[in-house]
Amino acid sequence: MDSNSRASRQDLLRQLPGVDELLKQPPVMEALAHIPRKLVLESIRETVDGVRRHILAEEPPPSISVDIGQLAQEAATLAETKNQFTLRPVVNATGIVVHTNLGRSLLAGESLARLQEVCRTYNNLEYDLAAGRRGSRYVHAEAVLREITGAEAALVVNNNAAAVFLVLNTLAKDREVIVSRGQLVEIGGSFRIPDVMAASGAILREVGCTNRTHLRDYEQAITEQTALLMKVHCSNYRVIGFTAEVSMEEMARLAHSRGLLAVEDLGSGSLVDVSPFGLPEEPTAQQALKAGADVVTFSGDKLLGGPQAGIILGRRDAIERCKKNPLTRALRVDKMTLAALEATLRLYRDERRAFSAIPTLRMIATPLEELHQRAQDLAQAISACDLDQRLTIRVEENFSQVGGGSLPERNLPTYVVSVQSSHWSAARMEQRLRSHTPPVIGRIEADRFLMDVRTLQPGDSEILRDAFQALLSTTEQ
Ligand SMILES: *Cc1c(COP(=O)(O)O)cnc(C)c1O
Repeated sequence: MDSNSRASRQDLLRQLPGVDELLKQPPVMEALAHIPRKLVLESIRETVDGVRRHILAEEPPPSISVDIGQLAQEAATLAETKNQFTLRPVVNATGIVVHTNLGRSLLAGESLARLQEVCRTYNNLEYDLAAGRRGSRYVHAEAVLREITGAEAALVVNNNAAAVFLVLNTLAKDREVIVSRGQLVEIGGSFRIPDVMAASGAILREVGCTNRTHLRDYEQAITEQTALLMKVHCSNYRVIGFTAEVSMEEMARLAHSRGLLAVEDLGSGSLVDVSPFGLPEEPTAQQALKAGADVVTFSGDKLLGGPQAGIILGRRDAIERCKKNPLTRALRVDKMTLAALEATLRLYRDERRAFSAIPTLRMIATPLEELHQRAQDLAQAISACDLDQRLTIRVEENFSQVGGGSLPERNLPTYVVSVQSSHWSAARMEQRLRSHTPPVIGRIEADRFLMDVRTLQPGDSEILRDAFQALLSTTEQ
C-alpha cells in the first residue's frame, strides 16, 4: 500500500458521518417515527460499518465519495426491513385455494370477530359455568361438531397429523393396523403414514397391491394382533386404470364382525358436497361415519375452511379413550383455535351461508363468468400502467386447484391474467413481484407470469396494479 492510497483511504474514513449526524437526516427521522429507536441505531451502525469495511478492504481504495443522504436512505431501508413482521400477508395469485405454503384457509369474518371477542376477555375455556368449577376445553367445539355431523363424540387437536397419531397411539399401540398398499400416502414430505404409524407405536400391516386391494386381503391379514382396519384418503395422488379399493361400508362390516374398529383418515374431510362446482364426489365426514367408520379424522384448515386443527369424530368410547390419553395434553388446541373453529362450524348450519361466508368454499364456488369479469378488470388495470407497452397482457382460460392435499389433479376451470414482456423474463417478473410489499405470489407458464383471479381477495387487484407500476417504473432488467 503506498502512502497516496493510505491518505485517500483515511480521507474517506474521515468523511464517514457519525450516528448523530445520520439521525438528523430526513429518511432516518421518518423511520424513527414508526420504528423503534434501537432498530434504527442498529441499522445506522451496520450501514456505516459496511461502508467502512468496503473502504478498508478494496485494493486500490475505492474511488467513491461518502454521500450522507444516500447512507441515511440505506440505513432507513435497512431499518424498514428489520422492522418487518416475518409472518405477513401475501397476495395469492396462484389459483391454489388451499395453499399450504400460503397459510391454507382464510378465516371467515365471523371467525375473526369471534377470535377478537373471546381473546380480548377472560372466557370459560376450562370452566364449567353451570357447576361453578373446573371444566374441559374439549366441550367447546364438540357440541356443534356433533350437531352438524351426527357423530356421537368429537375431539379437536392441533392438526390432522396429531389426530391420526393420537388415534393410532390410543387405539392400536403395540398392535397391528391393516392398511392398503395403495393408501400409504406422504403429505408434503413430513407426514407419511408408515412413519406416523411407527411413531405412534402401532404396527403397520400392509395389504394388497398399489393399484388393487380387496376385502379378502384385509380378511386374511387379521390376526390376534390386529387392532384396526384403516382407510387413508389418497389426498394428493390418484391411482387410475385397473384399480380396486374397499369401501368403508365393507371395511366396517368386516372390522365389526371380528370385534375390530374401522378408522378413516379423510385428509381434507369436507362437511359439504363440493361436486356441484365441478369437483369429484368425495366422501364427507358425515358419509364416512354413516358408512360405519368408528373414528374419522380430518384437517380444520383444508376444505373445512377453518383454523389449523385436527378433528376426530366417532364413537363415544373410542373418543373417550383418546381424550384420556396423556398425549392429548401435548396435542391440545388453544382458545384461539377453538373460538375460530366453533364460529366456522356454526356457519355450516346453513349450507348456503357456509358457501357465501367461508372463503375457501366461496372461492371454489365462484362462477366462471365472475372470474372472467375480474380477470378482464385486472388486465385493464395493469395495461393502464403500461404506458410504454413493455408488457403483453392477456386474459386466458386456465385451471385452478383446490390444493392442500384435497382432491388432486381435479382442476377447476378459471381465468388468469397472463403477462409477458420483451424487457423482463417471466422469472425476473416473478421475482420482482415476490419482493413487492406485500409480496405477490403467482406462477410461471411458458415464460408468462400468470395470475389466477380465483384466489385474489378484495383489494388485491389494487396491490397487483401497484406492484406492476413499481416494476414498470424501473428500466432495470
Ligand atoms: C393433509 C393430510 C394430513 C395432514 O393433515 P394436517 O392437518 O396438515 O396435519 C393427513 N392425512 C391426510 C390424508 C391428509 O390429506
